[in-house]
Amino acid sequence: MKWIFLPFGYPVFDTTILRSFLRTKMFIEPHIRQGPGGWIEVICGSMFSGKTEELIRRMKRVRIANLSSKVFKPAMDNRYHTARIVSHDEQWFESIAVAHSEQIIQHIGEVDVIGIDEAQFFDPSVVDLCEALANRGIRVIVAGLDMDYLGKPFGPMPQLLSLADYVTKLHAICQRCGSIAHYSYRITGGDKQVLIGEKNLYEPRCRICFRNDPPSDPPQP
Ligand SMILES: [Zn+2]
Repeated sequence: MKWIFLPFGYPVFDTTILRSFLRTKMFIEPHIRQGPGGWIEVICGSMFSGKTEELIRRMKRVRIANLSSKVFKPAMDNRYHTARIVSHDEQWFESIAVAHSEQIIQHIGEVDVIGIDEAQFFDPSVVDLCEALANRGIRVIVAGLDMDYLGKPFGPMPQLLSLADYVTKLHAICQRCGSIAHYSYRITGGDKQVLIGEKNLYEPRCRICFRNDPPSDPPQP
């Protein structure tokens, strides 16, 4: 990290250097060949933190290792494509859209690795499913938002984070000040917890910028 001192004495840091610093923190698979047991990896963070990008990176390495895999995503999230997960930097990987976690079982077959994107939108039973699959020897890679737009734990993510063998928390860059961001601030769009959207509806914010302008509408029960 490089600090730059401006002529009038206030230090700021160069976010370009900071971004490259963050990208060096790659997940290294503990052993890419399956042993007798599987495990759960969770990739979490705010919107625009690169979760899907990281999931795709890991799935591509699985393919290079000649392991079989399938990726699932919630059917409700069709922002980019119905049969792909797509990252903000336009990387993609084939996926199966399912309406309920039970449907993952129907599609899974014989695989070494499964990926689940946008896990926060899944029903609570996805937690037991991930645990059961890991116990069957499958490597389970889950990506999802850990917090909703109010900064509260989102859907099944808290349980998945607790049960995971490995956790990677990614950060975005605050749209207000350029610092590290881990909140998904909703710019507009009402008080529903689930509101699918992109940069027109959300921006990443750091703790200070999030707290300086807190969302005022709690979600309806
Ligand atoms: Zn900020």
